[in-house]
Amino acid sequence: MANCNPLRSPSSTLSEVNLGPSANPHAKPTDFDFLAVIGKGTYGKVLLAKLKADNKFYAVKVLQKKVILKKKEQKNIMAERNVLLKSLKHPFLVGLHYSFQTPEKLYFVLDYVNGGEIFFHLQRERCFLEPRARFYAAEVASAIGYLHSLNIVYRDLKPENILLDSQGHVVLTDFGLCKEGVEPETTTSTFCGTPEYLAPEILRKEPYDRTVDWWCLGAVLYEMIYSLPPFYSRDMSELYDGILHKPLPLPPGKSDAVCSLLQSLLQKDQHCRLGAIDDFLEIKNHVFFSPINWDDLYHKRITPPYYPNVKGPADTQHIDPEFTREMVPNSVGRTPELNASTSSNNAFNGFSYVCGEEDSFL
Ligand code: ADP
Ligand code: MG
Repeated sequence: MANCNPLRSPSSTLSEVNLGPSANPHAKPTDFDFLAVIGKGTYGKVLLAKLKADNKFYAVKVLQKKVILKKKEQKNIMAERNVLLKSLKHPFLVGLHYSFQTPEKLYFVLDYVNGGEIFFHLQRERCFLEPRARFYAAEVASAIGYLHSLNIVYRDLKPENILLDSQGHVVLTDFGLCKEGVEPETTTSTFCGTPEYLAPEILRKEPYDRTVDWWCLGAVLYEMIYSLPPFYSRDMSELYDGILHKPLPLPPGKSDAVCSLLQSLLQKDQHCRLGAIDDFLEIKNHVFFSPINWDDLYHKRITPPYYPNVKGPADTQHIDPEFTREMVPNSVGRTPELNASTSSNNAFNGFSYVCGEEDSFL
């Protein structure tokens, strides 16, 4: 039988993956000094790295081919690759510089975005005032609208995947769950996503379409406003029951406009959800966004409501210390400047290195 696994060669070894136009055949891991783990996910890690050739910082997403194969979810990674390869260009989507591979791993060299995850700021501040939540929701919606215009459904919108750049603008990262080729009228039915943010149609294992992203936008906005995701419960069956059957709780003290938007986005029937017909246009025209000039927003002419105050490209103060605590061991080369840095809020300070996992980095 023909071998149709895209990651395997006929001899069944882990083989070359076609990385398309972004592939840099000359690139290799030793081009970089790997400095810290800044994120961990399903398939691998995201590392802060300095490219020796230009001394600039990048976020390098390293995915293990083996893990992808084991999880039998090749489709997801292939989708990520394909999405990144589409040379997506949008002010609020992370930029891919190039990609390369070793026999075991795929490497995606991304802009290093160091203003912190929205999740990080939300945990610290509990919730945001409406103007701030509106600004982030608008930038996220703009990126989602762009992806939809290319028939890409993002599917995994949640605070962990929404980063802030050094100026305080939104950058969406993580294309791991993007589903390509979802035309307006077509649906797809792979069960994936994060429990708190699952739309009812996904929980019901029904076919779904791009309106799942508008549900997720509602869930993220709800969390920014009320500090917890909608229907939140530690008890998973209660959470699912809420998403499927309960009316949306809207505790008082918030504007009518935001309540109306939350209700229209977190509409259980996907056909009645805001965005079901005209997609992003419907979101743009909602009264909650009336203070937003969308052209100014796109061109980053709106001053962000919060300035992350990072000290430079290597400043990791806004990254979860749980990750930066796990440093890449000396053997892979750390830069002296970072070792020497002693500012009190520099997350590099005082952490011992975890050396057990060296070979999973490179
Ligand atoms: P996964 O698909 O495994 O969730 P992500 O792409 O979401 O992986 O990356 C995991 C985490 O790494 C993110 O939540 C974020 O904190 C961090 N991260 C990802 N990309 C970048 C980047 N370009 N700059 C800075 N941090 C990033
Ligand atoms: Mg992620």
